[in-house]
Amino acid sequence: MLAAVENIKEIYAVGEIPPLGVVPARMHAWVIRKDRHGEPEKSFQREEMPVPQPGPDEVMVFVMAAGVNYNGVWAGLGEPISPLDAHKKDYHIAGSDLSGVVWKVGSAVKNWKVGDEVIAHCNISCGQCEHCNGGDPMYCADQKIWGYETPDGSFAQFTSIQAQQLLPKPKHLTWEAASCYMLVLATAYRMLLGHIGHTIKPGMNVLVWGGSGGLGSMAIQICKAVGANAIAVVSSDSKIEHCMKLGAKAVINRKNFACWGQLPDVGDKAAYDAWAKEARKFGKAIWDITGKGNDPDIVFEHPGMTTFPVSTMVCRKGGMVVFCAGTTGYNLTMDARYVWMRQKRIQGSHFANAAQSRAANQMVIDQQVDPCLSEVFRFEATRDAHTKMRKNEHPAGNMAILVSAATVGMKTLEEARKTSTP
Ligand code: NAP
Repeated sequence: MLAAVENIKEIYAVGEIPPLGVVPARMHAWVIRKDRHGEPEKSFQREEMPVPQPGPDEVMVFVMAAGVNYNGVWAGLGEPISPLDAHKKDYHIAGSDLSGVVWKVGSAVKNWKVGDEVIAHCNISCGQCEHCNGGDPMYCADQKIWGYETPDGSFAQFTSIQAQQLLPKPKHLTWEAASCYMLVLATAYRMLLGHIGHTIKPGMNVLVWGGSGGLGSMAIQICKAVGANAIAVVSSDSKIEHCMKLGAKAVINRKNFACWGQLPDVGDKAAYDAWAKEARKFGKAIWDITGKGNDPDIVFEHPGMTTFPVSTMVCRKGGMVVFCAGTTGYNLTMDARYVWMRQKRIQGSHFANAAQSRAANQMVIDQQVDPCLSEVFRFEATRDAHTKMRKNEHPAGNMAILVSAATVGMKTLEEARKTSTP
């Protein structure tokens, strides 16, 4: 039992840490509303909101820090859909990554208790269907991404999530480092190790788009841990060192090539030949690393429209192009001849299930994977972080927001309490 606490405040200041387990009625949050969809400066607004209560299978987490990822950008824009249309609430608190402390547990929760220091994966599923019991919860009909398809994400002092989402916080990490990686790491883990028949193995060559980005930084490290060769692609030589330090075999600057965008009309010989010539030049740059004739076994895709024709061309015979996004556009094109004649697999991939998230987190606990924390923002600057991401101006790696951790460098609740700012 928690000791009775007198004078519970209606709302605590950001950076102020209430006594363990004490839940105020209201909290500070960054809130997106339907009538202000647009760029982050417009869509993200500070509001005071009711604290969301956990259901029987859920836990309430006191958020110490929150990771920044593209979900917040898309949610703010309302593109390709408004998340408010999906969950039907009139508000949306974005944020699909956190580190924090279990503050309250639902009546059916057995494995976690108040005070546990945790991070969370962002997959929600029903827990009752065959996919959730013996299958893959990512195929559950009720599968959703917390903080994107659900209304109460981590850019707030409190959130309530399914107990199965919790994972132990790696003890060697600060709150901000622990908060920044799970969404991209688990996504990369499933893409590289989750699709049976095309899982990475020692010596394989893997082409990693956006090597310095969130997904790419994780993909390079997973490849290294497995013994596969990551060939990273970036848009600036200034990003090469970051990828090499993470263990990339080599890095290619995409700005040196001009084969980007949708596939030209195959009937337009001049345009098609110009594209094919440039795409072969890009393929030759890969061979310069892997050896003549050695195409990538796996292409790790997410830019989408601008890169997909090249990805499907340069992938090895019998290899796989695995993609989890279309950041530059969803109208993906390819020359189908390269795919059927060379029997390539095109595989969609979306986040990861709890077992994959746990295995991925173990790689961080074992220090095989570094979270690649880049920039840390105060809670007040949440929308600035999203603007940077939106403009592709963010630093290499993963950004984090301090929520209830008042200063950087704190690793436990007790440490953070010492610098708490009432
Ligand atoms: P990020 O940190 O911004 O990294 C994306 C990288 O893409 C950038 O570093 C950039 O690197 C590269 N890029 C940008 N424009 C490009 C272009 N025109 N051609 C080639 N590369 C380009 O973002 P992220 O966190 O890795 O996420 C990337 C995408 O995946 C987002 O759309 C996100 O929503 C999605 N995602 C999906 C899932 C899922 O489960 N489905 C999970 C995580 C992320 P350079 O400019 O250096 O090339």
